[in-house]
Amino acid sequence: MIFLSLLRICLLIAPAVHSAPFLEPAVQADYDAIVIGGGPAGLAATSGLARVRRNVLLIDSGEYRNDPTRHAHDILGFDGVTPAWLRFAARRQISDYGTVDLVNGTVTEVQPQKNNTFFKVLADYPGNKSVSFTTRKVVLATGMRDILPTTTGLAESWGKGIYWCPWCDGHEHADQDLGILARLDSAVTSVREILTLNTDIVLFVNGTDTPANRAITEGKFPGWETYLKLLNVKIENRTLASITRLRDGATPYADPSLPTHPEHDLFEVNFTDKKNPILRNAFFADFPSEQRSKVGENAGVQLYGNKLAADGAGGLVTNVPGIFAIGDANSDNVTNVPHAFFSGKRTAVYLHVQIERENSLAQIAAAGKRDVGEDELQKLWARMNVPSDVTHARERFEV
Ligand SMILES: Cc1cc2nc3c(=O)[nH]c(=O)nc-3n(C[C@H](O)[C@H](O)[C@H](O)COP(=O)(O)OP(=O)(O)OC[C@H]3O[C@@H](n4cnc5c(N)ncnc54)[C@H](O)[C@@H]3O)c2cc1C
Repeated sequence: MIFLSLLRICLLIAPAVHSAPFLEPAVQADYDAIVIGGGPAGLAATSGLARVRRNVLLIDSGEYRNDPTRHAHDILGFDGVTPAWLRFAARRQISDYGTVDLVNGTVTEVQPQKNNTFFKVLADYPGNKSVSFTTRKVVLATGMRDILPTTTGLAESWGKGIYWCPWCDGHEHADQDLGILARLDSAVTSVREILTLNTDIVLFVNGTDTPANRAITEGKFPGWETYLKLLNVKIENRTLASITRLRDGATPYADPSLPTHPEHDLFEVNFTDKKNPILRNAFFADFPSEQRSKVGENAGVQLYGNKLAADGAGGLVTNVPGIFAIGDANSDNVTNVPHAFFSGKRTAVYLHVQIERENSLAQIAAAGKRDVGEDELQKLWARMNVPSDVTHARERFEV
């Protein structure tokens, strides 16, 4: 009787064990995923993977595209915070999950192994420390780099009165005297983007108002000259010599709980002819950009234009099975923080399920008492990459 009571007590206090029996994963590697880049895209992917206890390493070299800007905008719940605060808040939460490592470093090479069944990732950590890890999947969240003209004064003011997109900083300069810095064809189409915010507009096209470019512009935007006349938008074709800041419109003492505050910058635009400088409060600019990193391309990832080609129906996987591309760097051709979040989450969901799909196939095969050797796994993997095969992973997952 005493024994039975003790047994009952023991059963009551014993922790319930619900875990599935351990089954070997299809592939052994240090990590389920290595995320390269710790901007909003890489952080979003890492968060999505952490939530399902994936073993993830995020390596970040810390050269963020929006680093120069005063505030990040149009990010729900975080409108108007500094980009650094946004990353800090995300990192603080993500690092609370036990299966994630966030480190500073630069990935130097991604080497596909055994028909892309896993990857070797080489990186340099601070202090000249070289490391290498194996991983089942790689997420490229490496971002883009803006190629700024060498015009004196421009780079210093990039993101601080010379801004990149209307949603980024346009509202802070609403109703001010605006300049658009771009080639003729792009400057003209930019007018339509900004008209709800500014009406006193000068296009600084820096010598690109030529007959050939006028024809290109007409092809893109028939009737553009009439349109500019109707809006009283002027074209300034002289070659830019410098953009000199006369006033700093930063608002360090403004209420940080509010999303937007006017920023009253003032600039003087000087030309190579040294005549008649023009004053403007702000500029909306359109400059080219390039991949921040070559690691994806060097690992065999194809480019679409200057973007890493990613398949939206396949969780943003690239042509190299197992390597995904998200954020600004990928071919969605959408470049903002909400897209970085979305694409990171999209890949996290897909990648998670894909790993378990591979595991389940290998485990079922092993349970069938067949000796699943390396060759068979290779064959299975090859099958899974054929779109017409039933094992192909092009299934859509609802996120
Ligand atoms: C001036 C400016 C202002 C902007 N303002 C806004 C705004 O207000 N709102 C908005 O929604 N969007 C804004 N944007 C756009 C926004 O910055 C991008 O859409 C966003 O940063 C994309 O995130 P990402 O993670 O893809 O890239 P990034 O934020 O650029 O992050 C990429 C990261 O990858 C790292 N990396 C690259 N190669 C390697 C490597 N080999 N190893 C390790 N790490 C590597 C980089 O160092 C970097 O940390 C702005 C852009 C600019 C230029």
